[in-house]
Amino acid sequence: MTGIFIILGVALAFAYVCLVIWAVSRVQSSHECKKCATSIHLERIGRPAFVKKLVPFLPEKYYRCRHCYTTFFLTASASRRETRRKVSS
Ligand SMILES: [Zn+2]
Repeated sequence: MTGIFIILGVALAFAYVCLVIWAVSRVQSSHECKKCATSIHLERIGRPAFVKKLVPFLPEKYYRCRHCYTTFFLTASASRRETRRKVSS
């Protein structure tokens, strides 16, 4: 009976590690889509609920490219053109 819980625990840990690797691989510092190499199609969307709960240490900025539907996390230190535009106007 204990063996089931060990297997279950190992499976859960493995799933969590996979989720963290998936999420960390999507963190980037440049404000542009890697696939299209452009920033004009990007839109900010909310992080999925399971990411908020399971990987809370990830950057809050979550973007999706409207052109190719690639999603990625943007680090807080990344320079953004939008911020600069707001300052100048
Ligand atoms: Zn794209």
